[in-house]
Amino acid sequence: MDFFKPLNVDDNNTEKKEITGAAEKIECLILGSGPAGYTAAIYAARAGLTPVMYQGMEPGGQLTTTTEVENFPGYPQGVTGPVMMEDLKAQAERFGTDIRWGMATESDLTKRPFRVIIDENIAVEAETLIIATGATAKYLGLESEEKFKGAGVSACATCDGFFYKGKIVAVVGGGDTAAEEAIYLAGLAKKVYLIIRKPFLRASQTMQNRVMNIPNIEVLFEHNTKEITGDSAVTGAILTKRAGEIDEEEVKIEIDGFFVAIGHKPNSDIFAPTLDRDETGYIKTISGSSKTNIKGVFACGDVQDPIYRQAVTAAGSGCMAALDAEKFLKE
Ligand code: NDP
Repeated sequence: MDFFKPLNVDDNNTEKKEITGAAEKIECLILGSGPAGYTAAIYAARAGLTPVMYQGMEPGGQLTTTTEVENFPGYPQGVTGPVMMEDLKAQAERFGTDIRWGMATESDLTKRPFRVIIDENIAVEAETLIIATGATAKYLGLESEEKFKGAGVSACATCDGFFYKGKIVAVVGGGDTAAEEAIYLAGLAKKVYLIIRKPFLRASQTMQNRVMNIPNIEVLFEHNTKEITGDSAVTGAILTKRAGEIDEEEVKIEIDGFFVAIGHKPNSDIFAPTLDRDETGYIKTISGSSKTNIKGVFACGDVQDPIYRQAVTAAGSGCMAALDAEKFLKE
């Protein structure tokens, strides 16, 4: 499900709802609760900006669906994603961040204060806005994939892998996420197929080496998924394998679970069209800062980063956003 869904694209909600009552005034509004949002909150709270954070659809962000994080500085023994996010939350609360449940569903950034609607019925007005709404997993777009969501199709191995103990699963994708998911699932499942459309993995060399050395992972290079099959739950998949230059040969595999790990879409739709974004939807920031094309609106973390997308880079950019917001308010 999309973290942010503009009201005007909801099939059942073509009309914008009338919000009555006075909007709450907020000096520094932070949307999103991943490493970027929490770091922005820590800095903004310490600077006395009395930040209010709405956590969004997935409190704690994508890291809450990760197992071991080994590359975040300060945890020499590694840490699990959920524990790390609890640590960040506690630190943001310690300095007085007002952390709330709720998701931004609409925004008007045409003038200051910026108006944001939370959960379709609460209006808030912010002097500065820090967007840290992250990104959401992409799917292949197959009809059968849609049919089996929650019944064998998943985009999160750490959330759903447990159900496939001793079974056979497939993971689609050749990046670090797919490699990580395949490795995680290999520890639970009897067998893991890793389906990659190119003749090589895009994942880092370390992850590639790990994948290739796990005996119950079978890597299927140059394969695409045509259909996921089953009745009430997934029982197989039909793949196409490139044979020679143009011919495609069908390959059937028997599986119980199908995991999609092909990248993410930034959660920025509710800020269009006022906010400048690239063709994928990543918010454009002015190089070396968190500033957007709108004065007083700052973006940090995965919603504006198509390149690095790491917890530590997200945290760093959250710090930048809070410092930029503080400077903006002083000026
Ligand atoms: P990536 O964009 O890196 O990889 C996406 C993969 O999915 C690619 O192999 C791509 O294939 C494939 N793909 C995309 N669309 C389709 C499709 N329609 N059908 C089949 N395959 C498809 O995304 P990730 O989520 O893996 O990683 C994002 C970023 O996060 C990266 O920078 C990565 O390094 C980082 N990361 C780091 C981790 C860590 O350090 N522990 C863990 C996880 C991620 P193709 O190559 O052909 O385009």
